[in-house]
Amino acid sequence: MSLDPASLTIASARDGLKAKQFSAAELAEAAIGAMQAARPLNAVLVETPDRARADAKRADQRLAKGEAGALEGIPLAIKDLFCTEGVETTAGSKILKGFKPTYESTVTANLWREGAVMLGKVNMDEFAMGSSNETSAYGNVENPWRRPGDNRPLVPGGSSGGSAAAVSAGFCLGATGTDTGGSIRQPAGFTGIVGLKPTYGRCSRWGIVAFASSLDQAGPMTRSVRDAAIMLGAMAGFDPKDSTSVDLPVPNYEASVGQSVKGLRIGVPKEYRLDGMPAEIETLWQQGIAWLKEAGCEIVDVSLPHTKYALPAYYIVAPAEASSNLARYDGVRFGHRAAGAKGINELYAKTRGEGFGPEVRRRVLIGTYVLSAGYYDAYYIKAQQVRTLILRDFEKVFGEVDALLAPTAPSAAFPIGDKADDPISMYLNDVFTVPVNLAGLPGMSVPAGLSADGLPLGLQLIGKAFDEATLFRVGAAVEKAANFTARPKPWWRA
Ligand code: GLN
Repeated sequence: MSLDPASLTIASARDGLKAKQFSAAELAEAAIGAMQAARPLNAVLVETPDRARADAKRADQRLAKGEAGALEGIPLAIKDLFCTEGVETTAGSKILKGFKPTYESTVTANLWREGAVMLGKVNMDEFAMGSSNETSAYGNVENPWRRPGDNRPLVPGGSSGGSAAAVSAGFCLGATGTDTGGSIRQPAGFTGIVGLKPTYGRCSRWGIVAFASSLDQAGPMTRSVRDAAIMLGAMAGFDPKDSTSVDLPVPNYEASVGQSVKGLRIGVPKEYRLDGMPAEIETLWQQGIAWLKEAGCEIVDVSLPHTKYALPAYYIVAPAEASSNLARYDGVRFGHRAAGAKGINELYAKTRGEGFGPEVRRRVLIGTYVLSAGYYDAYYIKAQQVRTLILRDFEKVFGEVDALLAPTAPSAAFPIGDKADDPISMYLNDVFTVPVNLAGLPGMSVPAGLSADGLPLGLQLIGKAFDEATLFRVGAAVEKAANFTARPKPWWRA
C-alpha cells in the first residue's frame, strides 16, 4: 500500500518511523509526490525536494542509531517569512525576489535540530499583511476546501495561507506560521486545521522577516492538537539573539494533551458577540460551551470592555511598526533594485514603488502618517494606551478564569476576490484575533464544525501568558468532543 502523508499526523508518523513501518526516505518521497500533485493550490513558492531527501537520509541514520529528535523525519512546510540559509526567502514580495539569506532563522534551526525535513517554502500575504493570501506577489493560494456543488475558488485565509493549505491538503504533516493579528489562527480556522499563536516571547523572532515587531510571533499549524504541542516544543525556547524572547523552560506540552479539564474555569467574553455575526458562528460557540461543560469545566460569563477598540488600535500600531521595519528595503541591501534611477532618492522611490504591492504601500503610508510629527500623539500614543487597557482587561479576567473560549473568525472562508476591493471589510475578519496579539497572549484555533455551506469553522481558546499548556489541555478536549473528521475533496489531483 502506498504511503499517504494526508492520512498521518506528526504523532502517528513518529510511531510509524520508530516501528520501522516506513522510512523517513519513503515518507519524504510520498510527501514530495503529494506536494507536486497539489501545485494547482499555488501553496508552495519554492519546492526543495533535494533538501527533503538529504534531510530524510540523515533522519533515517539518526533513527537507526536511536538518536531521533522530536520531529525526526517529519516533512514540514515553512512559511516564506522565515529566513532559510541558501533557500530563496521572499516574504511573498517582489522586493525580496531572489533573496537567499546567508543565515537560518532560530525557529527553523530548532526544527532541523529536532530532525524535521524541509519540503519547501510556502506562499503568504506580502510581508504577512492580509487575511486572504490575495496580497501575495506570487498569486493567490487556493483553499483546498470548496463549497459542495460550487467550484468557485475560496481563500485559505491569511497571512499564513500557504501553510494552512499545505497542512489541510495533506502533503506535509505540519507547517510554520506567524501571527501578528491572527495570521495563524484565522487560516487554521478557514482550512479545518489546528493553529497556535504562542505567547509573545515564547519563540524567537530572529531571522523572521519583521512585520510589526511588538506583535509578531511564530507558531505551529498542524492537523491535531497533539501535533501542535509536539511542534511548539521544538520551535520554542530562549534565544539570546532576540532580546524579546523569554528565558523560561519549555514545558513538555504533549503531556498536557489528554489531561482532564474537570474543574477548569472557562470564560466567555460577552463583547465577542457581535451585531450581525452569522447565526452559525454563535451556534458553534454555544456548542463549544456545551462540550466544555460536559467535560467538567465551569463556564463563566466575563467582560473585556475595551474589545471594540482593539481593531482600530491594531491598524495603527501594526502599520506604524511596519513602516519602520520596511524602511530597510531600499534597493541597496536586499532583493529588487530598480533600473535606470538617477541618484539615491530616485533609486529608493523607484525600487519601493516597483517592489511593494498595493496593500504594503497602504500600510507604509498609514504607518508613516500616524508616526509623523503632530499626529504621533493623536494616533500612535493613543493606540498604545488602548493596548494597555486591553491587556488590563485580560489580566483582570484571568484572575477568575483559566482560559477563554470564543470564535476564531466571524465567517467561514470566502471566495477569492470577494473582499479584495474593500480593505475595511477584510480588516474586520481579524476582529476576534487581534486583541490577543495586542495583549501578547497565546491563542489557539481548533476545528470545531462545518458551516451551512460545508466549510470548516474554528473555535478559539485564549490563555494566560506562557500558559500554552492549558490551551493544549482544553484544545484537546474541544478536539475530542468536536470529532472533526471532515476533509477537503482532493480535486487538485484530478
Ligand atoms: N490580517 C492581519 C493583517 O493584515 C493580520 C496579519 C498577521 O497576523 N500577519 O495585518
